[in-house]
Amino acid sequence: MSTKRDYYEVLGIQKNASQDEIKSQYRKLALKFHPDRNKSPDAAEHFKEISEAYAVLSDSEKRKIYDTHGHAGVDGRYSTEDIFQGSKVNFEDVFGSNFESIFQNLFGRGGGFGFGSGFDFGFGRERGADLVYDTEITLEDVLRGKQEEIELPRDIECSDCKGSGAAPGTSMRTCSVCNGHGQVRTSRSSGFSTFVTVQPCNTCRGQGKIIERPCSRCKGTGKQKGKHHFSFEIPPGIESGEYRIKGEGESMSNGISGDLIVRIKVKSHDKFKRDGADIFYDENISITDAILGKKLTVPALEGTEKIEVEAGSQPNTIIKIKGKGLPHQGSRGRGDQYVRLVINIPKKIDKHQRELLEELHDSFNREE
Ligand SMILES: [Zn+2]
Ligand SMILES: [Zn+2]
Repeated sequence: MSTKRDYYEVLGIQKNASQDEIKSQYRKLALKFHPDRNKSPDAAEHFKEISEAYAVLSDSEKRKIYDTHGHAGVDGRYSTEDIFQGSKVNFEDVFGSNFESIFQNLFGRGGGFGFGSGFDFGFGRERGADLVYDTEITLEDVLRGKQEEIELPRDIECSDCKGSGAAPGTSMRTCSVCNGHGQVRTSRSSGFSTFVTVQPCNTCRGQGKIIERPCSRCKGTGKQKGKHHFSFEIPPGIESGEYRIKGEGESMSNGISGDLIVRIKVKSHDKFKRDGADIFYDENISITDAILGKKLTVPALEGTEKIEVEAGSQPNTIIKIKGKGLPHQGSRGRGDQYVRLVINIPKKIDKHQRELLEELHDSFNREE
């Protein structure tokens, strides 16, 4: 077990630091160690450490307990979930409106559609590996949302030994090293202090029981490879990125399950470009339509929309079709569709067109 560092030391602040100082120092460190920005292998661990320190010190009640009783006081009173409970609000407070974009990956979008907190704050227990699932979706999926059905590899109970690990018909005996506790205590004295360490028993691997004859199918593990059917909802308006679904990764017996990381890539569309909830579309029109004006039908996410090109429209004029963009993620309403007028200047013209244009040319010159 590693010893926890002092929260003030973790954030690099004085014991009497004000809330503003705590906040600004956390902001600085969090941006530096955010695993999306910092690729060093212990960035995530470090980010977790500073976030925990901030979660405690930014809460006056928890800070008081920490100041009086240290880590033992906080850990004894709060679970890790409690420590972080309500901190999302604080994180928003710290990072302002950028919060979503900076922290989306780590904290998920929370609530509503099953994307839980991005971090597992369970300390000390063994944690199963994260599983990564890649999926590509279309803009139409972004418009409507999508139900995704997947099969995840998952250990299931061995069908022969029903999970015991012992060959059918054989029994298990209590481990004599740990007397069935699964743990061994060792104490070591140093001066006036005695350190007691509790470790899983090596003989029975923490199970407290020893298998006389291991099950041949699972080799005594009690598990076999299986599949787990899992479905989740990709909410409308989602952006490309990584989203965590807590606890759906690899499971650990007596430990914490890893997370399922869903990597969503929104495919580029052949007609529309996207910026957040807005979509952009280029419509090619002829030079005469730009001059004379025209009623047009343009493609939209759902079928078509009618727009009117006014007489005398300039190149790159943008026409807004309100509410025909994508849904805003996690809130009501939709963005807009913007149509840009691209005016085609013909590269080749025939003899007749040339005559007409020359006539037009003379007419414009007479007007000047
Ligand atoms: Zn078995
Ligand atoms: Zn044992």
